Amino acid sequence: MALTENEIRPDDLMAGQAERFANDVRRLNERKGEFVVAPCPACGGEEFEPRFGKYGMSYVDCTRCGTLYVSPRPPPSVLDWYYANSENYAYWNQYIFPASENARREKIFRPRAKRLAEACRKYDVGRGMLIEVGAGFGTFADCVRDLQIFDRLVLVEPTPGLAATCRAKGFEVVEKPVEHIDLSKYQADVVASFEVIEHLFSPLEYLRACYSVLRPGGIVMLSCPNSRGFDIEVLQENASAVDVEHLNYFHPASLSHLAQRCGFDVLETSTPGELDAEIVRKRVLSGDFSLAGDRFLQRVLIDEWDRLGAAFQRFLAENQFSGHLTLIGRKPVST
Ligand SMILES: [Zn+2]
Repeated sequence: MALTENEIRPDDLMAGQAERFANDVRRLNERKGEFVVAPCPACGGEEFEPRFGKYGMSYVDCTRCGTLYVSPRPPPSVLDWYYANSENYAYWNQYIFPASENARREKIFRPRAKRLAEACRKYDVGRGMLIEVGAGFGTFADCVRDLQIFDRLVLVEPTPGLAATCRAKGFEVVEKPVEHIDLSKYQADVVASFEVIEHLFSPLEYLRACYSVLRPGGIVMLSCPNSRGFDIEVLQENASAVDVEHLNYFHPASLSHLAQRCGFDVLETSTPGELDAEIVRKRVLSGDFSLAGDRFLQRVLIDEWDRLGAAFQRFLAENQFSGHLTLIGRKPVST
């Protein structure tokens, strides 16, 4: 059965989440005086053009590489405080993750674990240690464990509640940010990090830390929202991917550039999404976004959805227009 959005974000639970989220947004805005102007998180450029505002944040486009990012942005101290006190995260950990874990496991994490296994074969990567940075609820790590690829799995998860969940599942957990771990203890063959870098004050420092825990020849597998994905390109600030906690919106070329700045050889980028067309279609059907004036999308997403929807989604995924971006990079053997 195809993946549907309701399975991974159940509608009834998402209603209860809205109030918690509004509280988080209000708390963050109360510390706006501490926000700092940031250069482009991908290329370091300082020239930008304003794009839109949402949740009190300013989203700008880097004029050099086209990365969309928040500036001014909360400094690390405010971000740490925000996540430590987030009502929204507590709600996800308590209700939404458990209720949707099986659907997520089968539809998102197991296919992702298989893609990682394929990458390890394709790029002839060692099978000693995998470090997952930002392990969250531990579901991906669970799927990797099932595949029995690696001798040792290490989960890096700085959020106490989520780290406890991972430990309860029997994993070795490092409960601190990757930038602060003792690098001498780890020589990973693979570093995996999903939906983390969009949240960070400095993706550059983070990715350099990921580089440091890899042995030469090891690979990193990263994922994040794609600013050139269908949802953001069509819905703009109305896209749910444009979130108060997402500070960085890379696209395939700009994420590649960032990885290269950190020393990685980029092996591939891909956008293996399945939900983009359905997400925009749902917004139109619910009445909170209009395709008036866009006859083509009206035809594809609404009038002839049954005939065109699946093929259109495949087109998006195959041409790097899906909202979900994955990059695989390698730490060179000789540096
Ligand atoms: Zn840039």
